[in-house]
Amino acid sequence: MTKVLIYTELKEEQFKKSVFELASFGKLLADKTNSEVYAVCSGKPNEDAVQQLSKYGISKLFLLPEELSDDNRSMASALDKLASGIDANIVLFHNDNKGKAIAPRLSIRMDAGLLSGISDIPLSYEPLIFKKRVYSGKAFAQVRLDESNNVILLNINTFQAIENPVVIETEEFNGDFNPPSGNVLSKELVSNQILLTEAEIVVSGGRGMKGPEHWSYIEELAEILGAATACSRPVSDEGWRPHHEHVGQTGKIIAPNLYIACGISGAIQHLAGVNGSKVIVAINKDPEAPIFEAADYGIVGDVHKVLPGLIEAVKAQQTGG
Ligand code: FAD
Repeated sequence: MTKVLIYTELKEEQFKKSVFELASFGKLLADKTNSEVYAVCSGKPNEDAVQQLSKYGISKLFLLPEELSDDNRSMASALDKLASGIDANIVLFHNDNKGKAIAPRLSIRMDAGLLSGISDIPLSYEPLIFKKRVYSGKAFAQVRLDESNNVILLNINTFQAIENPVVIETEEFNGDFNPPSGNVLSKELVSNQILLTEAEIVVSGGRGMKGPEHWSYIEELAEILGAATACSRPVSDEGWRPHHEHVGQTGKIIAPNLYIACGISGAIQHLAGVNGSKVIVAINKDPEAPIFEAADYGIVGDVHKVLPGLIEAVKAQQTGG
């Protein structure tokens, strides 16, 4: 029986929430193509995390040596060996930095089709046909995968995790892997922060914020809403915010339930990263700004006046005032 293999990542021995979405997507593909869905990670999850994974249809988890996660080429080579060893003909990744770095390398090794940016179930399973946004979200394309092996990247937050409990087993997969091509000198773990790609709510600032000294509004609103912070590309190019916050065509692709755009014009390249959001709220002083065409709710006004009022209103609502 062929397999669907999902690539997962660990954070402090736990799976990220988005892994359960990918597992559910894999389970659906496996059910429809008469396959089983397995997962792979590098490092060791704790027992609780393994059991969590089993709730979403994963019956087998392969463990790779932790150091492989530091080297995308070695990881691609290990995944190729694993995929051919277990007869996996579909390998799923999230469409994040790691997925984008490993998936193309793996597809070459597996002689597989490669399709990124999927946000919905296939239109057809045999042959596999997906609908996906193209040209920065301006159009849709239907893509048919004709290869017998395929590597597919799913956008985060676009597929709901669906419980489907099974019994899980774990197995260490050790092999003659390519040694890492470089040495990692240091690692910085960002903790106590809501991951932008996993956040339910995102508060984002653009050039209309006028400078990094005004970001306390964005941060305060994000804190009281339990949100992550993001920004437009010029903001990170200017060094007002770190690059990992930049969303859009050349940045992160996010799909939160609520995206609050403050002083952002809504250029097509920005929207390409956020137009999967369920609800978009825009605050902009220009009523003609393109962001209002993408927004579900809009406030025309100066962010420096609107944001303090909004923060007070949310606080009052939270304290029942
Ligand atoms: P601006 O375009 O300067 O807009 C600022 C907005 O703030 C305006 O609408 C203005 O009306 C409003 N404003 C000003 N003052 C106030 C105020 N006091 N109160 C309220 N509103 C105010 N951009 C991205 O964001 N992400 C990408 O990934 C990305 N990739 C790109 C890739 C390519 C190949 C190219 C060519 C461009 C890319 N860009 C990207 C840049 C993109 O085209 C826009 O230039 C950028 O998104 C604009 O950022 P902004 O909206 O913050 O700034």
